[in-house]
Amino acid sequence: MISKMVLKIAIQKAGRLYDDSVKLLKDCGIDLKNGVNKLKTEADNFPLEVYFLRDDDIPQYVEDAVADIGIVGENVLLEKNKQVQTVEKLGFGKCRLSIAVGRKEIYEGVSYLQGKKIATSYPVLVQQFLAENKVNAEIHEISGSVEIAPGIGLADAIVDLVSSGSTLFMNGLKEVETVLKSEAVLIRNSELSEQKQQLLEKLLFRIRAVRKARNNKYILLNAPNESLSEIISLLPGMKSPTVLPLAEAGWSSVHSVLNENEFWEIIEKLKAAGAQGILVVPIEKMIV
Ligand code: ATP
Ligand code: ZN
Repeated sequence: MISKMVLKIAIQKAGRLYDDSVKLLKDCGIDLKNGVNKLKTEADNFPLEVYFLRDDDIPQYVEDAVADIGIVGENVLLEKNKQVQTVEKLGFGKCRLSIAVGRKEIYEGVSYLQGKKIATSYPVLVQQFLAENKVNAEIHEISGSVEIAPGIGLADAIVDLVSSGSTLFMNGLKEVETVLKSEAVLIRNSELSEQKQQLLEKLLFRIRAVRKARNNKYILLNAPNESLSEIISLLPGMKSPTVLPLAEAGWSSVHSVLNENEFWEIIEKLKAAGAQGILVVPIEKMIV
């Protein structure tokens, strides 16, 4: 019997990347079977097998081709330094790997760290950072709760993941330096078969359409015909905006697509130019 060709993807089994990873697959139209087996499941409608793993293990599994592709934070990817390729940034799991010291410390630059003890779960990245900055410090590797290390006298400084900074604050620490900015990325084994590459391309096509849609909004507005040319010039659109006559003489309906980043600024200008009844709706998929 010929076994069915499937693409194997490794995602975090629980934690900060889990929800967004599953949601991305779902938005790509891939429905996962809710099996009792928590290590592995498969998709109903795409040749995909999903492995649920600790994020730290994902680069290794992808290097070893136990999984063909995986979703992991750049922080873990760079720390583990495995032979895998990054395919695409995914825009979630954003955080930074930062240096923090006691709030009352006077920190005037990386030389502060000279001869100090630094607690971290990222010894490789910290060592690289220290070397780049020509600082010698003692790295103390701990696997969790790094933020308590200074308080219990284990270290003078820490290097840990930060998003809002509230954990640091609660532990009497302040962030003084960013070692790395990170987000979730899709990685792949470097020697996929032709068939698996095709499946990956198919998945990637969907991921890009989903991500693009998330960054864009569909906009509909009414415009008096005399303002049309000004309003159209404000709208980028995929090609050019769609303009349809309204039942009321002298008015048109204008449809277009706006990028999230320029959204508010353009809306203001549209209003100033005479646009009315502006509707903004989410886009589910966007293929350009
Ligand atoms: P696992 O059990 O899989 O090893 P973990 O405890 O190492 O889980 P999580 O805390 O769930 O990992 O974080 C997973 C990833 O989420 C991180 O490696 C990082 O890329 C990303 N992340 C985003 N924001 C944060 C944050 N504020 N703190 C920690 N990680 C974050
Ligand atoms: Zn982990």
